[in-house]
Amino acid sequence: MEQVKDYFGCLVFNEQVMKAKLSSDVYKSLRKTINDGKELDISVANSVAVAMKDWAIENGCTHYTHWFQPMTGITAEKHDGFISPDGDGKIIMEFKGKELVKGEPDASSFPSGGLRATAEARGYTAWDPTSYAFIKDKVLCIPTAFCSYGGEALDKKTPLLRSMQAINNETLRILKLFGHDEVTSVKTTVGPEQEYFLIDKKYYDERPDLIYTGRTLFGKKTPKGQELDDHYFGVIKPRVQAFMNDLNEELWKLGILAKTEHNEVAPAQHELAPIFATTNIAADNNQLTMEIMQKIAKKHNLVCLLHEKPFKGVNGSGKHNNWSISTNTGMNLLEPGETPLENAQFLLFLVAVIKAVDEYQDLLRISVASAGNDFRLGANEAPPAIISMFVGSELQDVLDSIETGKPLKTKGKSFLKIGADVLPDLPKDSTDRNRTSPFAFTGNKFEFRALGSSESISCANIMLNTAVAEELRQFADILEKSKDFNNDLHELIKKTIIEHKRIIFNGNGYDDSWIAEAEKRGLLNLKSTPEALPHYLDEKNVKLFTSHKIYSETEIKARYEIAQEHYQKIVTIEALTALDMTNRYYLPCISKYSANITNTIIQKDSLNIDSTYEKDVVAKLSEGLKNAYIVKSSLEDALKEKDKFNTVEETSMYLRENVLKKMDTLRDIIDSLEEIVDEKEWPFASYDELLFGVR
Ligand code: ADP
Ligand code: MG
Repeated sequence: MEQVKDYFGCLVFNEQVMKAKLSSDVYKSLRKTINDGKELDISVANSVAVAMKDWAIENGCTHYTHWFQPMTGITAEKHDGFISPDGDGKIIMEFKGKELVKGEPDASSFPSGGLRATAEARGYTAWDPTSYAFIKDKVLCIPTAFCSYGGEALDKKTPLLRSMQAINNETLRILKLFGHDEVTSVKTTVGPEQEYFLIDKKYYDERPDLIYTGRTLFGKKTPKGQELDDHYFGVIKPRVQAFMNDLNEELWKLGILAKTEHNEVAPAQHELAPIFATTNIAADNNQLTMEIMQKIAKKHNLVCLLHEKPFKGVNGSGKHNNWSISTNTGMNLLEPGETPLENAQFLLFLVAVIKAVDEYQDLLRISVASAGNDFRLGANEAPPAIISMFVGSELQDVLDSIETGKPLKTKGKSFLKIGADVLPDLPKDSTDRNRTSPFAFTGNKFEFRALGSSESISCANIMLNTAVAEELRQFADILEKSKDFNNDLHELIKKTIIEHKRIIFNGNGYDDSWIAEAEKRGLLNLKSTPEALPHYLDEKNVKLFTSHKIYSETEIKARYEIAQEHYQKIVTIEALTALDMTNRYYLPCISKYSANITNTIIQKDSLNIDSTYEKDVVAKLSEGLKNAYIVKSSLEDALKEKDKFNTVEETSMYLRENVLKKMDTLRDIIDSLEEIVDEKEWPFASYDELLFGVR
């Protein structure tokens, strides 16, 4: 059998293939482009295109595509054949440099938030040479950015690359101050842990709610859910293991470092974690992972659900964004190091992140805001909607000592002088880590835990990179002018701790007392997407994005519009689906079932046989049927009203406060009827089948 190390990355136009297929001059120019972001010369692009095409054809490809990530949140591709007529009725296989570096898809049907009128439908895609081309389903895929003709970003990759550039620029300034002239580029790294559900396809196929919305809008709880914690890290069922094996193989061929797999807390829930990579590559890889998970699941007659809350009453799915900053010389800037100087540098980066998370809580919250994630955040299964940070007791002790000038509790030093003293050992990845914190320091990286499972990781990282870049810019502005570096550094770190320590919370984030405490500290508690989104346009946030050239003001407004519109569309589709299921399935089913039982009652009564059970059931069914009818009519009316508002903010709030709440009430009624109706008469697969159906 072929070994993993032999086929790993075989579908990627990676370093090894480039070296083998390109002349050394072409390879060197391409490398320069990749390392320094220099523009690619067209003659180099032509040579790369030919090599890529030959390699792709050797691997069975006939087509190529610019693979991009529009604002739909998923990926897009339009395949083009390599074929070109040779004039003699035959064809040649052709791929030119200009086709590699730039594409011009008709982009009028992608969300643009008003950035592109349909009349100027064209957008263009531009190769991101820092992310390798790869082969998927016999198509050569070229990772690209997607922009309007005016150059405005219409995708998730462009701003992510811009944010990586911003943090690179500012970090290099800081590193110079610590004498690191050898460092020429800095990149953020991310390891996204991905949660998902796997259910049997035959039950999925019975559920319009899963098909149209990705989550169940109805369904009574099973007698046993996740109470016994017996699924978490439990033995993986053979059918699921077969899926995981196939998935790993496919991901490894694509050079994706899938490493950890296990069962998660909820029944039918699992997780996959890759080894971390440079952020834009991690983002590409995560998109591919989500896509391939769904594809492989189908091969096993399973369906992979990526929705944040597919089932009521058990945990939903998230994504943990493990994040750090690394230099081209291999330094992890969130690694405390061993010498006083390394420790001082670490502390400066640490407080930059603390300040960034405090000042841009709203942006981090927005970056994880979606209709699906609203069911998780703050629901005691995922971090609260309040953004705070966990640093752990050892690091807290260090911060306290710097702030107060008092000795460390753990070591008897007089007090900690930055630049002169060595930090006490900080445990890496200790087991008592706080799982309730949205943003936790885990020894040499931060773990942002509030992301939803189906979302692209780009948005969270754009916010994080940009906010940290801003703090580093401010720090560099101060320290570059310093005449007494160690002293000024100490003072800057101390001042930052004092001003931003309110964001640090090492306690239990699920505790109700934390909500009150957070409010006292002045932290934001943006409970839902409609409450969070408007902060996108706050002056300080617009200033942040424009000054680091991540978004123009027009681009921010467009993103905001798209996010609001997306939320509204999701809730509307859910409400329409709930109504359709109620009108065409639940109500007729309940009516017919109660008519059957009523007939039984008539027969039994005529024979003088006791019909207590039947009468009780019919009474409950009639009451439920009436209530369900009233609520569903009121939901229909509520939905008609949604277009009467003047602003997007009002519409979104209305959908949340009115439409979603009515859907919940309707669900409660229908679910309680599911408890008493003959299972064989019920129109849809039950939670028992969905959650425990893979045996
Ligand atoms: P846990 O489930 O305990 O949170 P895992 O081991 O499942 O942890 O996941 C940790 C993730 O953090 C992995 O994807 C790992 O590659 C990633 N990681 C480790 N070091 C870094 C780093 N320097 N930058 C970004 N991610 C990192
Ligand atoms: Mg984790």
